[in-house]
Amino acid sequence: MKDYVVIGSGIIGSLITRELSKYPVSVLVIDKENDIASHQTIANSAIIHAGHDPKPGSLKARLCVEGNRLYDTLEKELDISLLRTGAYVVAHTPEEETMLQALFDRALINGVLGAYFLSGDEARKVEPRLTDTITKVLSLPSTKVTFPWEVAINAISNSIKNGAEFKRNAQVVSIDVKSDHFVLHLKNGSSIETKHVINASGVNSDLIAKMIEEKPEFEIKPRKGEYFVLDRKAVGLFNHVIYPLPTKAGKGVLIVPQTHGNILLGPTSYDVMNREDESTTREGMKYIKEQLKSLSNQIPYDMIIRNFAGVRATSTYEDFYIQESKVHPGFYHVAGIDSPGLTAAPAIAKYVVEEVIKINLPKKPNFNPIHKNIPLFHTLTESEKQTEIKKHPKHGHLVCKCEKVTEQDILNAIHSPTGNDTIKGIKKRARAGAGLCQGGYCESEVLKIIGRETNKKPTEVNYYAEHTPILVKETKTK
Ligand SMILES: Cc1cc2nc3c(=O)[nH]c(=O)nc-3n(C[C@H](O)[C@H](O)[C@H](O)COP(=O)(O)OP(=O)(O)OC[C@H]3O[C@@H](n4cnc5c(N)ncnc54)[C@H](O)[C@@H]3O)c2cc1C
Repeated sequence: MKDYVVIGSGIIGSLITRELSKYPVSVLVIDKENDIASHQTIANSAIIHAGHDPKPGSLKARLCVEGNRLYDTLEKELDISLLRTGAYVVAHTPEEETMLQALFDRALINGVLGAYFLSGDEARKVEPRLTDTITKVLSLPSTKVTFPWEVAINAISNSIKNGAEFKRNAQVVSIDVKSDHFVLHLKNGSSIETKHVINASGVNSDLIAKMIEEKPEFEIKPRKGEYFVLDRKAVGLFNHVIYPLPTKAGKGVLIVPQTHGNILLGPTSYDVMNREDESTTREGMKYIKEQLKSLSNQIPYDMIIRNFAGVRATSTYEDFYIQESKVHPGFYHVAGIDSPGLTAAPAIAKYVVEEVIKINLPKKPNFNPIHKNIPLFHTLTESEKQTEIKKHPKHGHLVCKCEKVTEQDILNAIHSPTGNDTIKGIKKRARAGAGLCQGGYCESEVLKIIGRETNKKPTEVNYYAEHTPILVKETKTK
């Protein structure tokens, strides 16, 4: 019997798991997918928002501003990537300038520090590719950008070091409520008993809630967001996150520099029926280009290397829904976590454990908050490379030429405690296949390495989930 089971290993479930691992309780985080961070957490803008946009007094406002600050601590403790870009919100007309002033006032009420105005010309001196129709800019220096799935993976690695467990391919299909515990039934026929459950299952959080409650107080209305990705050679073309003015539909189509030098363009925002429809559309791509004209006329669309989409867990409840079940105490919903959920995640984790669960235990004296990444070879200095290559000669074999990923980097990604044995899992961790050729060159090599390391035939190596092989059968025999 576990003390706590967390359903979902996105950014929310992973940081809650880490928060719980500070206490003397048993914690298991489970996910239906084969890897950590497979849905919203891998398909978003990666912005750590300042907190200028959420409605004052809401949980979204409070936890966004707190979360933004907590990322500085996570950077030190979990060795995560953080790019301190700052952000510009732009206005073109006197009416828009009035809206910009209202946004500034909202930022002040929400506790955002350091916001100030620039004229269009002042902003163009810093970001010369902004359109010349921009008349005024709200600068939000506390805005940052992170590498979202690295945060989730590192949080779970650190939780494991502190005694927590992670189980993949564990889809909850039904739940029995007993007098003093819950039984989670999984798709593979097994079951898990636990005293408490945290429902951090993203777009499925209402479906999980319906497994124990007849009428949950929230329903998920999935909203898709599509993007273009520019090659990392675009680094420096824009150095700030550039926002238009927000509307009811969200923060609009943005320009977002990424931690590895790429630039994201997007997202769209429209309702979809299918919660996991992460496909892109011709209309979406057209819409992004159309909307970006108001931000810049100098976007190098010839540098696009791919597009992708994510689906937001937007809910009928206006705010984040973070509450203990009113029907079955001990079951906690962390639901409707759409934007700014990535930003708020570290604050949500603390809020859940300290203010919703109200855990009444002393923290473990031996909790170790530190996680250290094994650095990728290309990030080392020349002398570090010389030392490292003597210890690990497989760094001498360059597998992904675009992102300069070595065979040893891939071995590290496969064999770490939260490693993965799929093509996408290796791309997430070592970035093999994340560059200009999108794996065209290295994917077959990565597949061979995974097969060799995990004793699988090439036809058994999966692309991302169970039963997703790239190679279906042998076409040539010796
Ligand atoms: C297009 C887009 C742009 C965004 N941009 C930003 C941004 O720039 N800044 C920001 O702060 N926020 C942003 N967000 C919001 C942010 O990404 C989310 O709030 C955050 O990732 C939510 O994390 P999560 O862990 O709740 O959900 P997820 O990452 O979706 O994780 C939920 C997990 O639950 C698992 N699961 C589901 N059902 C089951 C089941 N039955 N059994 C077991 N496991 C299950 C899933 O496999 C999944 O791994 C954006 C979101 C989107 C979609």
